[in-house]
Amino acid sequence: MKKQFELIATAAAGLEAVVGRELRDLGYDCQVENGRVRFKGDVRAIIETNLWLRAADRIKIVVGSFPARTFEELFQGVFALDWDRYLPLGARFPISKAKCVKSKLHNEPSVQAISKKAVVKKLQKHYARPEGVPLIENGAEFKIEVSILKDQATILIDTTGSSLFKRGYRTEKGGAPIKENMAAAILKLSNWYPDKPLVDPTCGSGTFCIEAAMIARQIAPGLRRTFSFEEWNWIDNRLIQEVRTEASKKINRDLVLDIMGTDIDARMVEIAKENAQKAGVASDITFKQMRVQDLRSEKINGVIISNPPYGERLSDDAGVTKLYAEMGEVFEPLKTWSKFILTSDENFEKKFGRQADKKRKLYNGTLKVDLYQFFGERVRRQATSEKGNI
Ligand code: SAH
Repeated sequence: MKKQFELIATAAAGLEAVVGRELRDLGYDCQVENGRVRFKGDVRAIIETNLWLRAADRIKIVVGSFPARTFEELFQGVFALDWDRYLPLGARFPISKAKCVKSKLHNEPSVQAISKKAVVKKLQKHYARPEGVPLIENGAEFKIEVSILKDQATILIDTTGSSLFKRGYRTEKGGAPIKENMAAAILKLSNWYPDKPLVDPTCGSGTFCIEAAMIARQIAPGLRRTFSFEEWNWIDNRLIQEVRTEASKKINRDLVLDIMGTDIDARMVEIAKENAQKAGVASDITFKQMRVQDLRSEKINGVIISNPPYGERLSDDAGVTKLYAEMGEVFEPLKTWSKFILTSDENFEKKFGRQADKKRKLYNGTLKVDLYQFFGERVRRQATSEKGNI
């Protein structure tokens, strides 16, 4: 089997740089592009990145790239790739996706059909199967994707299966959950570190709190799920087991964390508790039923992360306007705390009563949202030294 692969980690718009940082932290050089981060790696890299990347969507192998202005060029280009290195006899290989952008070829179903034919023909030739007799596809699945951008086709195999945001701990999620990989990315964009208090006062199913505890404890996000590549015959099960065992050993069990999630809805609080239990971080988080309007704290240098209801999704606009105003009042005394609020409401700052120090555009699925960032005031030197004298 091939030693090195061209790989891409896909990411939601706005989160590519976070995925790039994660890859570099894992020791992979990479290039950040729109919606994807390119890197190279071996079989271990496929396993490790699937298991460890918190902000990515999927890891895909780039099988090849070539110009495709006509169906003939597409057919020949796909046929020329070394499919026998990836697809064993019996493999299922749906062309699960075709996407054409700014290209002469634009009929996506036809692109899928032609690509399928080309792979079939190549495998028939390689495995010396008679032409005209269909290949039996009853084995492991290799989802193939064809993307044609400005007449350049790129052929990919998905290694992940269901998207990486599905960690396996969130079985109940309420009406408007944030994706787990987006929550992890926002935590990484924030100035929260495990030694600071963290509060999500509109915690819903608990995603921010659970992802924070997992980051702090170095729990690999993929430990509780499986991936497409685990069925593949050329990825050694022992290696998968080795990478999983290493990940289990990395878990830091000695930390004391200060993480709290609260929600007005008692049912959501129960769901959040169950999810934290499944993620293995129940003892790290205090979940309780509370209105955000009742939030108070004597602590300093904490971080609030909140994804409150927004007009389009859960509540009506008048209710949201009032809620945001009340949040503004309740957060005001928490001067040393930083606040990160994710909402699609373009008038959030006006309603909240303060202008953000920084704004970042993100997408929660297809919904455009902004992350409004308010940085806490530094505790003054005098106050610190007074404290030191006590
Ligand atoms: N990030 C969450 C989803 C938040 S949806 C997740 O991943 O699941 C917004 C949440 O705000 C809902 O759960 C809703 O019950 C809660 N909420 C609405 N009004 C509130 C209020 N006044 N105080 C606290 N929580 C509130």
